[in-house]
Amino acid sequence: MLDPSSSPQGAGPSTGTRRYSRRRLLGYGASAMALAGLPGLARAVTNYKGLDVIVVGAGLSGLHAACLLQEQGLNVLTLEGRNRIGGRVYTLMDVPGRPEAGGEWMGANYARMIDTARRLGLEMLGPDEVSDIREWCYRIRGEYILAADWPDHPLNPMQGDDRQVLPNRMLFTLSHKNNPLSGQPLDAWIRPEFARFDIPQTQYLKEYLGFNEETIRLMNVVIHTDHMDNTSALHEMRRYAVGEFSARLAESRPDLPAWRQIKGGNSRLPEAMAASLENPVELNKTVYAFEDSGGEVTAHCMDGTRYTARQVICSMPYPVLRKVKFAPRLPQRMERAIEEIDYGTSIQVHFLLRKRFWEIDEMPASMWTDEPFERFGVHRRGPNGEATSAVAFINGNEAYKYDLMNDEQVVEFTVRALERARPSLKGALEPIGIQSCHREVHGGGDWVFWRPGQVGRFAGQMREAHGNIHFAGEHTALLERGMEGAFESGERAAVDALLRV
Ligand SMILES: Cc1cc2nc3c(=O)[nH]c(=O)nc-3n(C[C@H](O)[C@H](O)[C@H](O)COP(=O)(O)OP(=O)(O)OC[C@H]3O[C@@H](n4cnc5c(N)ncnc54)[C@H](O)[C@@H]3O)c2cc1C
Repeated sequence: MLDPSSSPQGAGPSTGTRRYSRRRLLGYGASAMALAGLPGLARAVTNYKGLDVIVVGAGLSGLHAACLLQEQGLNVLTLEGRNRIGGRVYTLMDVPGRPEAGGEWMGANYARMIDTARRLGLEMLGPDEVSDIREWCYRIRGEYILAADWPDHPLNPMQGDDRQVLPNRMLFTLSHKNNPLSGQPLDAWIRPEFARFDIPQTQYLKEYLGFNEETIRLMNVVIHTDHMDNTSALHEMRRYAVGEFSARLAESRPDLPAWRQIKGGNSRLPEAMAASLENPVELNKTVYAFEDSGGEVTAHCMDGTRYTARQVICSMPYPVLRKVKFAPRLPQRMERAIEEIDYGTSIQVHFLLRKRFWEIDEMPASMWTDEPFERFGVHRRGPNGEATSAVAFINGNEAYKYDLMNDEQVVEFTVRALERARPSLKGALEPIGIQSCHREVHGGGDWVFWRPGQVGRFAGQMREAHGNIHFAGEHTALLERGMEGAFESGERAAVDALLRV
């Protein structure tokens, strides 16, 4: 997310797994999770000679699980398919200003994540200190519109007070009206009484909230799923309910920033977590099969190596898990969930800036548009808020067409579209890279989402273990979403594995 206020939640990274001192290790060890005193633990630690648990995936969920289990004295090894730590948390360390190319903003509700960062001695910054994108201009149906002109603009399709809502805030603000999940516990979205909202989001916006076609079209531009027709309204309601929870917490602590990032880049957090592990994370270990003998599980890696432990925690996203073999086979219902559940798509094209193009046309540098590049944001992460780099950030339905282009074509297409829309950009853009989890073998997409009907079919059962294999990852979180959801899921899977060791 480029702008935390528009969301309910918001090259060459270090791949090393630097080991921390025992003191640092104990820092994680003091964590809030109440694992101590669970049955069988002492026996497991003292009697078992090999690995107790293998964690697959060194994203936030896997690392949190590994750290918590180590804290309980277990012998844990983490296998990671990529050549870096962090998964969908990925700071572009070599780009000026170190922009985030993955998980970006922590809300006030990110208790586990904030707690972990503090324990590992990492500082956090609020939006003002990050000095990132603040002001947008809008380009809709080929016309530039300034924020101040939007409420009275003829292209504004909304009625009454809604006309004040800026285009980049429409999806969040308008969808949240009369949210049936508002004020409910965070797990209410899977309760049967709300199943009637497991319908297409577009249908809900029309039938329940009465929005017109153009309002819905604009709400559908920057969407963290696929397309509103293919998104369950219940999924979106849950998103807004979690956002509301976060906002309430933020209001109760006005002395703290409502949104945070890790100083120096969010990747520092998973890297510090990995560094606190006694067994260094094994990188470039892509697991392609699990064999559960009943007493132990073997994980088979693409490089021919095998690792065996009593329990496994698997944090791979579903699009990757589709290609992984399980013996014995997964239950049919689980196989169907893995096959059918999808992740929101996005692609980012990053640029250095050769000139201050906004001084030529005297408009805000960043643009929110209904053009093929959707959002173009200028990061202002220099010491005095100077522009450091820029990104074209395409989400959802529009991002799919980029699947049919190679990287060069993506850059060429994006630059052409940007220059056509804003002539002052001619000669201003120096492309430096593309980032898309969706395009990566170990990724599959940004965030999990549910299509109409899928909440009822799958959301209740995604946390079930398969023999000695436990599933983590933000897609299995029940309460929180995104990075905090990853932490929640890692904690739950760690408890499940601990109870079985
Ligand atoms: C562009 C973008 C913006 C985002 N913005 C936000 C935000 O502002 N706030 C927020 O809260 N969340 C945000 N998110 C979502 C958030 O980053 C993720 O939900 C979270 O990081 C997921 O963590 P995870 O551990 O569940 O999964 P992952 O981080 O995907 O971890 C899974 C790990 O498993 C590894 N792996 C995969 N397959 C294999 C295999 N076969 N063998 C071995 N290892 C394997 C992967 O390489 C990865 O390291 C964003 C995500 C993206 C992509």
